[in-house]
Amino acid sequence: MDSPTDPPRAGTLYVVATPIGHLQDITLRALEVLGAVDLIAAEDTRKTAQLLARHGIATPRASYHEHNEARRTPELLERLRRGASIALVSNAGTPGISDPGFRLTSAAAEAGIRIVPVPGPSAAAAALSASGLPTDAFVFLGFLSKKSGKRRDQIKALATEGRTVIIYESPRRIRALIAELQEALGDRRAVLAREMTKLHEEFLRGRLSALQAALTDRADIKGECTLLLAGAQAPSLPPREALAEEIRRALASEPRSLPELARELAQRHGLPKKAVYAAAMQIKTEKIPTTD
Ligand code: SAM
Repeated sequence: MDSPTDPPRAGTLYVVATPIGHLQDITLRALEVLGAVDLIAAEDTRKTAQLLARHGIATPRASYHEHNEARRTPELLERLRRGASIALVSNAGTPGISDPGFRLTSAAAEAGIRIVPVPGPSAAAAALSASGLPTDAFVFLGFLSKKSGKRRDQIKALATEGRTVIIYESPRRIRALIAELQEALGDRRAVLAREMTKLHEEFLRGRLSALQAALTDRADIKGECTLLLAGAQAPSLPPREALAEEIRRALASEPRSLPELARELAQRHGLPKKAVYAAAMQIKTEKIPTTD
């Protein structure tokens, strides 16, 4: 198998990440690939031209954006089939992450064309990495729907989401988003990452109410915003004695298996079944005395 570090090869689609702000955030390999491919498919050819000019790269470009991707995809695919090497770039960060790219990568994958990632910045990973919120598991939602009903459902679904949530939002709507989240999910911890890697980079950390208060004082919110929301806390078990009493009564009134009982109690209290089962098992083996 070819090594992904080989020089650009014929008939290959390279998915190349570019800076999200700071122009030096581009990898050596990205520059090498961009300089060597036959064509760069760019979301905005003028914006990409600035980046390429800075690095003395004169590779031909074609536009590939949300308004022409349906038409352009078969054309690019045909060039790849005929042996061209193409680099796909978006305006910022990683193509396909809330940016055009998926249509082309899925068509290329279907056609058996080799696709090579050239990884680099993405606002989601940058924001998460510096947020101070748990990074072990996370959910990336991109931009929430602009349709109010669907948006409400997307937010409601986060009520039981235990992982850190990453959302992209425009500065114009960031205050409304924070208000919607607080209203539906309570005053969770959150982080607003604004203008990362740029001159006015800012991380606001605190409860949603504190973020809102900090933004309310501002006449205008500018720049690019990524919002991170702490996951929901796992619901805690009812006091041990209360649970013990409930388990004892249930077992005495109607002999049942422990898993069955745990399922019923977990449902009644909205608790994880595993945790209730473990508690019940412990209580049963300890033979906690009755209070009757
Ligand atoms: N493909 C990009 C990536 O990999 O991150 C995302 C493109 S999406 C159209 C642009 C959104 O990403 C912005 O509206 C903002 O939510 C987020 N974003 C991009 N650059 C950012 C930055 N420097 N600071 C904070 N958020 C940023």
